[in-house]
Amino acid sequence: MRLWDGRVWPCAGRYAGAPVFRYGWAPTGLATVRQLAERGLRPGGQDVAGWLVWGPSNRPRWAYLFRVDLAARKRAMTPARWAAIERCNAAQRICPTCGEDAGYRVPRSLGECWPCAAPSWGEHLDGAPDEGVAA
Ligand SMILES: [Zn+2]
Repeated sequence: MRLWDGRVWPCAGRYAGAPVFRYGWAPTGLATVRQLAERGLRPGGQDVAGWLVWGPSNRPRWAYLFRVDLAARKRAMTPARWAAIERCNAAQRICPTCGEDAGYRVPRSLGECWPCAAPSWGEHLDGAPDEGVAA
């Protein structure tokens, strides 16, 4: 049979319109729900791309196969993931100039926290009259 990406692959037949692959013969790029879950993915509403069959022929076991390239990231956030995001945010809150935790993400455009960036602004703003700006 011809796969979704053009590769020609031997399959053991078809079932419900989808190709059946024997265990160990499934093409790369297809995965069972369990294999997707191990990579933090879920089928994401795609159609069944194939069937995986294994076990004795008189009592075969079946599993759905889905395309990995169509799979979606799991939405469920685990505490570990939240912690990772928190660490990432924390790193962006550290001002490289004073090394303090600014309490907010240091703006990329400034490259340092507001207090560190402010002195140079002060010079610039000193000569600017407040009247006129409001008008
Ligand atoms: Zn700073």
